[in-house]
Amino acid sequence: MSMIELAIGWLAPPLCVICASEGSALCRACISSEIIPFGARCWRCGSLSEKSQTCSGCRHFGGPRHIWVTTDYRGAAKELIRAYKFGHLRAAATPIASLMAETFLSYSGDEEIKNTNYSVVPIPTATSRMRQRSFGHAELLAGHLSKILKIESCCALGRLGQQRQVGSRREARRAQAGGSYYLRRPNLVKGRSVLLIDDVVTTGATLAAATQMLRQSGAKHVDALVFAKSL
Ligand SMILES: [Zn+2]
Ligand SMILES: [Zn+2]
Repeated sequence: MSMIELAIGWLAPPLCVICASEGSALCRACISSEIIPFGARCWRCGSLSEKSQTCSGCRHFGGPRHIWVTTDYRGAAKELIRAYKFGHLRAAATPIASLMAETFLSYSGDEEIKNTNYSVVPIPTATSRMRQRSFGHAELLAGHLSKILKIESCCALGRLGQQRQVGSRREARRAQAGGSYYLRRPNLVKGRSVLLIDDVVTTGATLAAATQMLRQSGAKHVDALVFAKSL
């Protein structure tokens, strides 16, 4: 994508990916008619679950304490994510993040959550893919969410890009422990509670790997906020 194309993408008012009305990548009318809340369900098997905790049958899988999901990855949500990730539509981050914030706020009245002092931590985008897309999609969402929710954002996780040389032995060891992820500075998460941010969850393997690394480094609680659940 050229700089000119990028600049046009940033300056032109976004069009709704569903009805093409001007002003937002997903307009209010389409949000209310097309986005069906995921609700309080286990993110993995979809069974009803209080506060969206991972149900007892899926707990062996590991990963975050709660994974709060805004909606299923289909229909308008799928269109929006596709435009965001593959159509490089930066403006899609605004409705995605505000819907994610609504999801989080619907749970944050709960005492256990209310008293949790979170840092927002995005799941990093692979370096080579980021170059193609020109921005890190979870990083951008985390930036918006940090402002809306007034929670500090912290890029504690790094990811080894597919085209990047593994620089040091230490980095390689860290990466091995968490798949292609490593902790940038473990002291950033020690004793903190983390709200992991990603756009789509499928198997949850990425969130599980990130959770394991964060817990090993002394993170207190690890929860996750994700826009869409893909089958
Ligand atoms: Zn619309
Ligand atoms: Zn389950």
